[in-house]
Amino acid sequence: MHLNGMKVIQDALAAVSQRIRTACQRAGRSEQDVSLIAVTKGVAGQRMVDLPALGISRVGESRVQELLAKQKLLDAALEWHFIGKLQTNKVRSLINRVQLIHSLDRSELAHEISIRSVEANATTSVLLQINCLEAEERNGIPFGDALRFLEQTSKLPGIRITGLMTIAPQGDEAIVRPVFRRLYELRNKIDEEKLPGVKLEHLSMGMSEDFEIAIEEGATLIRVGSALFGPRSR
Ligand SMILES: *Cc1c(COP(=O)(O)O)cnc(C)c1O
Repeated sequence: MHLNGMKVIQDALAAVSQRIRTACQRAGRSEQDVSLIAVTKGVAGQRMVDLPALGISRVGESRVQELLAKQKLLDAALEWHFIGKLQTNKVRSLINRVQLIHSLDRSELAHEISIRSVEANATTSVLLQINCLEAEERNGIPFGDALRFLEQTSKLPGIRITGLMTIAPQGDEAIVRPVFRRLYELRNKIDEEKLPGVKLEHLSMGMSEDFEIAIEEGATLIRVGSALFGPRSR
């Protein structure tokens, strides 16, 4: 039934995989160190049934309701990542349901994740979403506040910070590359601080338009939607 749609995704995945391979070669990195997260927001659950068979094991969603509805439909063959703006009143329903929340961007949210995780006897892994371009009004913790935020948040129970995430502005390489490089350098700087219990293994950066640059700048998780599933209607 899905054979046609499956072929389209399979071809797109082959193209994306080739782009990943080339970027890794250019950067002298191992492909194993870069994980593809297929961003399935706006993709119907029915279209996602065949993803595991194609070799896609990680999906990213940006709306809690959509994620929960799809989890009901699809089995445990997929690893779920939450990548969108997260409202505090939705936190509870995500606990124990996602591998990683990429978008921790404010301390109110950190406290809520902590409280709900402890309540559920869980530890929730998160990335700090960083705004690398402070001049612009964007989502994310301002670059200059990252260390202080991390120091405070890493003390909370039930929450484990495993890396950093950023979204680059749309634009050419001259704009995008420095953003990714800043995140990489921030990670190294934080590592040097040797904060107790903090080990930042992940850099989540790069989307359909710019993931090769992100890989060259050290991304370990890339979030790719439209290059796999075509343009979104929203
Ligand atoms: C939608 C989205 C993506 C994927 O974007 P594409 O350009 O379709 O690859 C990646 N990250 C976040 C946070 C998103 O919201």
